[in-house]
Amino acid sequence: MTRRTVVTRGIVVIDVDACKGCDLCIDACPPGVLAMTEHRRNARGYRYPVLSLGCTACRACAQICPDFVFQVWKFDQPATTVVELAVDRAPADRAPADRAGADRAAADRDGTP
Ligand code: SF4
Ligand code: SF4
Repeated sequence: MTRRTVVTRGIVVIDVDACKGCDLCIDACPPGVLAMTEHRRNARGYRYPVLSLGCTACRACAQICPDFVFQVWKFDQPATTVVELAVDRAPADRAPADRAGADRAAADRDGTP
């Protein structure tokens, strides 16, 4: 079991039902902490982004979203979280925050909150 420390500097509030599922925010997020749901849909029938640990409060998602879905809040002090990875070593192309996103996507697939 490998442990990594993830630093989170802010949080985003996502107006899920305002999203039209265009995916623009996913590639725009520098640390890659946004991921689209796979099976869950909003009231309009679109997939929508969910947030994992590691947000830097950079506001890139809010700036690129055409539908003003995001509110970004920066913490006064960064929060650190120790996460346990299920593998001995994270794949080279996957940061710890991405791993958390993968776990969240798995929960989405399973239908767990
Ligand atoms: S504020 Fe920046 S780091 Fe946080 S979710 Fe948006 S794009 Fe990603
Ligand atoms: S950019 Fe905005 S509308 Fe497009 S998927 Fe992201 S939150 Fe939804």
